[in-house]
Parts: sequence; C-alpha cells; structure tokens
Amino acid sequence: MRHGNGIMEVTARGSLQIRGLTVDSARLLAAEVDALGIAVRSGVPVEIGPLAGIDPQEIADPRPLAERIRAAIEEAGLTARLGPKVSVVVDGGGQLTMDAVTADVRLSAVWATAGIQWNVSVAGDARSAKSLATVDADTARDITVAALRMVAEKGREAYTRDLTERQLASLSGWHSFAPPSVLPDISPTRGEIELSSPLSPIGKVEPSAKVAGMAPWPKLPISPLVGEMSGRTEGGAVERQPPRSPIGIFDLSGYHALGIALPFGSMPAQNLIDLAKEASEFDTTEIRLAPGRSLLFLDLTPSACTSLQASAAALGFVTLPTDPRTRIAACPGTPACASGRIATRAIAETIATEGADLFDASLTLHISGCAKGCAHPGAAALTLVGDENGAGLVVDGTAKALPAGYRPGYDAARGVGGILAAVRAQRHSGETVAACLARLGAAGIAELYRWD
Ligand code: SF4
Repeated sequence: MRHGNGIMEVTARGSLQIRGLTVDSARLLAAEVDALGIAVRSGVPVEIGPLAGIDPQEIADPRPLAERIRAAIEEAGLTARLGPKVSVVVDGGGQLTMDAVTADVRLSAVWATAGIQWNVSVAGDARSAKSLATVDADTARDITVAALRMVAEKGREAYTRDLTERQLASLSGWHSFAPPSVLPDISPTRGEIELSSPLSPIGKVEPSAKVAGMAPWPKLPISPLVGEMSGRTEGGAVERQPPRSPIGIFDLSGYHALGIALPFGSMPAQNLIDLAKEASEFDTTEIRLAPGRSLLFLDLTPSACTSLQASAAALGFVTLPTDPRTRIAACPGTPACASGRIATRAIAETIATEGADLFDASLTLHISGCAKGCAHPGAAALTLVGDENGAGLVVDGTAKALPAGYRPGYDAARGVGGILAAVRAQRHSGETVAACLARLGAAGIAELYRWD
C-alpha cells in the first residue's frame, strides 16, 4: 500500500506479485523486505508443492532433492545462461500436487517396485509433459541439470520444448548407463549437446564424431505413455490420484490447514491485511502461497478453519472450490494494466454472478485485456479479448486468435450472458456446458454473442 497501487496478486503458479511499483518504490520495498528477513529466492525457480514436508500423504518430501537441484544448477553456472522463465518442479505428491503447474523439467515422486522413484518429464504440466524416465533421486537431479545445460546451449530464449528428439532420447537413456559423477563441461559454441559415448550420455561432441565408422547413436526409447496416460510408469510405478483443489480444509494429522483463493488472483492489500490479522488471532503459524492463486493458512484447529473461512468469504475471497470465479481466468486489464482495452475483472465478476449455475468443470472462460493473454496462455472454450474494436470473442482458441465477433467492451458481459442463456435453454440432460457449446458450434456462439 505504501509503495505500489495497493493491489496484491497471487499467480496461477503460486507466486506473490505486488502491483504498481515504480523504480524508486521497488527499491524501497526491497529494502523493507530485506529488513523483515524475508528470503527472496533468486536463480532458476525450483518449485515444490505448498504442503511439502508437512503432508502425511505425500509420497516423498521433495525439499532435499529440490535443494540439491538448486545447488547443482548453481555449481554448473547455468542461472545466467537460462531465460528467466525456465523452471523446475519437484513434486512429492500428496494432497496438493503441482500437476497443474507447467515446468521445463518436472520430477514427480512415484511408488515403484524399487521404492520411491522420481518420474522425470519435460516441457509441460503433469498431463502434457513428455515423460523421459523413472529413476532414483541422484539420477533425476543429473538428468535435470543435463536438460538445463542443453537448453542453455540454445540460448536464453530457449526452453525444454525446443530440445530435439535426439536430445530427449539421450536424457531418457541416461539411467541406462553409468553416468559420470561429474558432468563434463559443454562448449557453449558447440550447439546441440548429444551423446558422446554410451558411457557418457552428455558431453562434448566433436563434429567428427558423426562421421562414417563411428558407432551409431544408441536407440534410446521414449515412452510417451509412461507416466502420462498409462496409469503405470516405468519401473511399475502406480498412477497418482487426480489433483485436488487448494481451496478447502486439509487434514495434516494433528492440525489443519485452510486454503482460500484470491478472486482472479487479485485482492486489495487491505483485505489481505485484515485476513492475516484475523488468522494470527486464530494462532496460524504460517501462510503459504499455493498454485491456483491460493493461500494456505497452517496450524489451525478445525473450528478455527471454519471461522477463518467465513471471514475470508466476507472479505471477498474464494472459499469454495466450486466458486464460478475459479473457472474464469482474467488478467488485470483496464485500468490496472496500460495495455488493457477492457475492464476484465469487472466483466468476469458480472459473468460469474449471472452464470453461476453453468460453471461446471468443463467450461473455461478467459477474459484478456489484450491479445497477450497473460492470464491464460492456452486455449479456452470462450475467450473475450480487448482490442481497438472492443471486446472480441474467440471460440475454442487463445487470446491471440482472430475473434469471431465483437461487442463494445462495456457490454461484453451481456454478450456472454446471451451465450449462457442459450446453453441453459438448450443443454440436454447430463450434457456438460463444453459439450453443449461444441454442439452450438463456433458460428452459432459468435452469433449469440453479437445478438442484441
Ligand atoms: S493480457 Fe494485456 S491487458 Fe492483460 S495483463 Fe497482459 S498485457 Fe495487460
């Protein structure tokens, strides 16, 4: 409130953002954060779940492995060579997983016949990432660092999604070999990193290594179904449960945690101050940030959870996982963001209120102030996007797609209201909203949006 514009945000990844800082006020804020003894982590983000180390249901405590990966990344000098958005997730499983968080490298603990193992995958969330191998913690760390080295070789704009099939194959086959205890240096001028020999999966490759007479590249399998769809991972690992919403009450054996979310990830700082004061009166020991724009209040009794939940609801926070606001992604838009062309959050509030009965789990609605699409880079069933023509509607696409129809920005909620009214009237018994929209078709939906 002193240094920014009084708006605080928690992102979909569970990061805290303080809005409206100037260069000078950011410096003052940084000094105050330091004075409070808050450790602000720098370097490549190696993220762990919000209940890491305190959830009796987690498969493995991910903190030690995450710490070793951070140290290995530093030791390898990779931080300065990687783009700021390159990230690693180390997920120990349990009640609150990191399944929805995308990462360049993700390590997920699994029960396997060999005991606890780590499934290593790249470039995506738990559903979309490409699985490479299921290995022990040391090998998982080594594959992670090797993958990040390959990304660094491609430059600061690169991600693991840019790695070639051959590079992924070499990472996937890492555990088939006896990896060297110390990773060899990679020449920054050498381009793609490839296998130099079957006993050294990562290392310098002289251009001449590919000439006739050399042994062919080993064929190393990548099993696209491993760890993704099959229900069983390499090594006999058992499939993890579907992810749970961070909103609700969590039993942590002996004490409880309460999860709430910020509507559209944003709240006036004063509301957060009021809630934090209330929580400290209930003797909460810690507030953790969580993916899904959420906060977790730890060390509460069941009755304190219920009371704090009621206070949070009264302050405008999201306290139910079924709240329609959790189905809508809305960036700050106008007036908070200079690039915004529509008042995203006001539109989202109106739609959430008027269409509350229709927001089942199948429907994703994205409201974006401009084509950048910060709040939801992927496709959504319906996207409203602001541009010079007003509020455009994109059906089953991203904010970057060409809108199928327009309304004035101030009137966009009414257009979506028309679509939702048609769904309400025409939906078959048992049909999801997404299925009904698909039946109405993109042209029909655009017509409903434009209709006055
Ligand atoms: S999508 Fe556009 S309007 Fe929204 S926060 Fe990003 S830059 Fe700003």
